[in-house]
Amino acid sequence: MKLVLIGAPAAGKGTQAARLVEHYGIAHISTGDMLREEVAKGTELGNEAKSIMAAGGLVSDELIIAIVQERIKKDDCAKGFILDGFPRTVVQAEKLEEMVKLDHVVYISAPDEVMLERLTARESCPKCGAIYNKLSLPAKVAGICDKCGEGLTQRKDDTPEAGKKRIQTFHDQSEPLVDYYGKKGILFEVDGTQAIDDITKAIIAGLDK
Ligand code: AMP
Repeated sequence: MKLVLIGAPAAGKGTQAARLVEHYGIAHISTGDMLREEVAKGTELGNEAKSIMAAGGLVSDELIIAIVQERIKKDDCAKGFILDGFPRTVVQAEKLEEMVKLDHVVYISAPDEVMLERLTARESCPKCGAIYNKLSLPAKVAGICDKCGEGLTQRKDDTPEAGKKRIQTFHDQSEPLVDYYGKKGILFEVDGTQAIDDITKAIIAGLDK
């Protein structure tokens, strides 16, 4: 199964991707996570992406396409994958189409206010990558990862200022993908304001149809 998840920041792409990966036994490709790893390692690529990410913009199509092109060749993608955060522009979608034939594109939609509220309450585990939310999915012990006990951190771009910019970037550059994939007949939309379990159920029902 080759799947794309589209949605504005904090729509729930990462949370749903983690669940779907487990359900279908396919690879999770988060371009945001891959870029954050490069930033943490201080690579040339990471240094190039760092300020763009912190300001809520998009790194260049060329750069991100090259990363994805390499990633999907890896063995763990043989059974399929979920692309979480890619494509984010129509240019990226067109390139992706040259690389693979997608089965489905899931669009997790929610109003801007909901996403902004969630985004500033989001926490994640720097060790195992688990995602939490102080409002909707709190850790059992505040600030500590349920899964591995590591202290939770907040993403540098999950501030109200960067968050607003990222939501605007989504509207300007990524929302046209809804129309793009809609016309290809492979898109289905899920209401991202529902409870997390209900969103997962709705996605699986849509994919297994
Ligand atoms: P995410 O974790 O998906 O919210 O991504 C974090 C940041 O990484 C985004 O705000 C962008 O700056 C950058 N990024 C991730 N994926 C892409 C992409 N497909 N195209 C351009 N920039 C991206």
